[in-house]
Amino acid sequence: MNRENGVWYTESDLNRSQTKPLPATSAKKVLLFGGTFDPPHVGHLTMAQLAYEQTGVDEVWFLPAPSPPHKADIADDTFAWRVAMVSALLHDRPHLRTMPLEARLPRPSYTIDTVKACKKWYAGVDFMFLLGADSLAHLPTWSGATALCSLIPFVVAAREGYPIAQTMAKVRKALPNLQVGVIEMPLLDVSSTWLRERLDRGQDTCELVPERVLDVWWQGPNGVAKDGGDQA
Ligand code: ATP
Repeated sequence: MNRENGVWYTESDLNRSQTKPLPATSAKKVLLFGGTFDPPHVGHLTMAQLAYEQTGVDEVWFLPAPSPPHKADIADDTFAWRVAMVSALLHDRPHLRTMPLEARLPRPSYTIDTVKACKKWYAGVDFMFLLGADSLAHLPTWSGATALCSLIPFVVAAREGYPIAQTMAKVRKALPNLQVGVIEMPLLDVSSTWLRERLDRGQDTCELVPERVLDVWWQGPNGVAKDGGDQA
């Protein structure tokens, strides 16, 4: 398979990947939220909930990445486990949905490919994309960044070390077609890396990873069903 026009797959790949029915939605506006979620934490949950409230979308779709292009140490075989943890995080919030749609795409799945696929698969839906200010700062290095910016508007949440105004100004210089809105949110200086290290040492994560998510974490990657309990 060749990578052409910023896309790894061909039309027939896209159609083949729909042999399993796509999850249904009645949403007209959807905020996509990509991430590794290793593990998911209260930072993810809070930004998704506040973005839902402030943007007026009908649903926020969490899109766990099977093999993120920028994180070589993340193995595909932890995907179902991370999907199950995201489902546990979102428990009882039907407007926040676990949508492991990237499992249907060739690896590694770049965001531009995912956005194109979502637009094709859900043709009537208006999409935006949620990220933290640290990810926004790196957006110019993403595959097909300029094309991506003309495809979808971004919604950004503040993150420690990445002042919003400066970060946006810098990114706009590299990507003049960037469309971005900011959500109002207190800085939550918490990351999966820090939490994972504490969990690996058996230390208390003080509810920054909710109990329900920890139950899945302790099952380990081999302890969950292959689809992570989700049908997407
Ligand atoms: P890691 O420490 O492994 O980099 P992470 O905590 O950043 O993980 P990811 O799954 O990589 O989690 O993040 C998914 C998205 O959520 C990214 O856009 C990231 O910027 C954003 N994000 C994660 N945690 C926060 C937070 N505490 N505040 C704001 N944005 C966040």
